[in-house]
Amino acid sequence: MTLNGIITCLLGCRAGTRPLSQNGNGSNYHRCEKCGLAFVSRPPASPALERLYLKDISSPTSYYAKTVEADRITFVKRLRLLAQFQPERCLLLDIGCSTGTLMNVAASMGWEVEGVEPNPHAAYIARQQGFIVHEGFFSSVLDRHLKGKYQCVVMSDVIEHVPNPRDALIKARQLLAPNGFLLLSTPNLESFWCKRFQLKPMEHLFLFNSKNLSLLLSGEAFEICHLEKTSRRRALGQLTHSTTEVGRESLTLIRYLSRLRLDGALAWMMEHFFKDELVVIARKTRRL
Ligand SMILES: [Zn+2]
Repeated sequence: MTLNGIITCLLGCRAGTRPLSQNGNGSNYHRCEKCGLAFVSRPPASPALERLYLKDISSPTSYYAKTVEADRITFVKRLRLLAQFQPERCLLLDIGCSTGTLMNVAASMGWEVEGVEPNPHAAYIARQQGFIVHEGFFSSVLDRHLKGKYQCVVMSDVIEHVPNPRDALIKARQLLAPNGFLLLSTPNLESFWCKRFQLKPMEHLFLFNSKNLSLLLSGEAFEICHLEKTSRRRALGQLTHSTTEVGRESLTLIRYLSRLRLDGALAWMMEHFFKDELVVIARKTRRL
């Protein structure tokens, strides 16, 4: 964030910031010297960023169409984790639902589901499957009649995209019923893989580690019930369709490895060594 021309940390740390790196995409980010939060130091104006989602450029439906099977595996695992804390099936809201893969999995597990999605093409595909989708950016769809409606809110790889993650948590909190649960995942900046592949300054405006994500959540009166460093299921073939800029040499290597059918080995390595995502289950508590 920039305050009076000075780059400051969203968490209000009274500490300096420094560039994450001098090179490549890392030069677009600053990092708080106290909590380690990384953020795009001078993000583009909101209309330019919003256009990327409205026009199916960032997080495009063509990519998610290719990741459905891998995403299903990830979402089954994460919803089973959520069910350990919220055993009764009830109403769940998926923020950034895209074409509805998580909603499909959740519905098959007995949840009632609704979604929020700004990309009109993705929202249309999800609606065609019978789901209720509140179309628009999260900040604009929060209507009075939705407050306190949901027992669970899912923000799967969303919080790193929004201009103000604190505001996003405040809104998620307003949507949740008392004692409701938030399931949140985001790239893990402590991971080498994240530093190598997740620095996308037009999409990932913030990058967290376990410490500053915990601070952000507890600051908005969420009790952290579970936090793990893990990964999501990926297939090598899908990586070639990602919007991540990996360079021509890396792309050639990925294409070569995908022919060797090393997807299972990649998934195992990601989950046990690279751990490029943080997954949190947090409960809405009463503010003191
Ligand atoms: Zn900080």
